[in-house]
Amino acid sequence: MTVKVQLPAADVRTRVTVPLRFADGYETVADVFTFTGLADGKEHLALGLGDYRDNPIPLVRPHSECLTGDVFGSERCDCGPQLREAVERIAGAGGFLLYLRQEGRGIGLYAKLDAYALQDQGLDTYAANRALGHADDERDYTAAAQMLHALGADKVTLLTNNPDKGAQLERLGITIDETRPTAVHLSAANARYLRAKVAHTGHTLTLD
Ligand SMILES: [Zn+2]
Repeated sequence: MTVKVQLPAADVRTRVTVPLRFADGYETVADVFTFTGLADGKEHLALGLGDYRDNPIPLVRPHSECLTGDVFGSERCDCGPQLREAVERIAGAGGFLLYLRQEGRGIGLYAKLDAYALQDQGLDTYAANRALGHADDERDYTAAAQMLHALGADKVTLLTNNPDKGAQLERLGITIDETRPTAVHLSAANARYLRAKVAHTGHTLTLD
């Protein structure tokens, strides 16, 4: 039996409509939610996409912030294409994209760039984090679970290849009805990074 963690309640603070337009021309509209009472005090966001109000089991992706990938289109990781894919799929199904302010698997932006420098010397993404004194993955989904509870989304379909996300959310009282994988966004620049994800954390990616 899983031990469930008692969470302090968070509340919706504001909801504002934001039209989105991506670099490839894809457009949709998001209801962007802010919150009070999030456990770590950070400014996490939830984007309500598509008919999220009418979907009793919303499609949800917790996306951890990646400045280089999300904003600048860095090809060292697959975050940008994952974010783009997730927004369209959630808009189609109705659900929420949780934009979590935990850069670099929770180690921060500067440390992530330091880890890139070590990777250029031959370490993989996890070994580089450990060489800097960090754990493989320091991400925590407490705030994600608090946001889902505040949005009334206690039961969700999860969009992820990362088994740790579902396991953490279930411990935090979110029922995962189903887990759907995201596509593989493989490029010459991120192949080594994606292989490390599969080998170290059981990400459900099929790489040739
Ligand atoms: Zn990234």
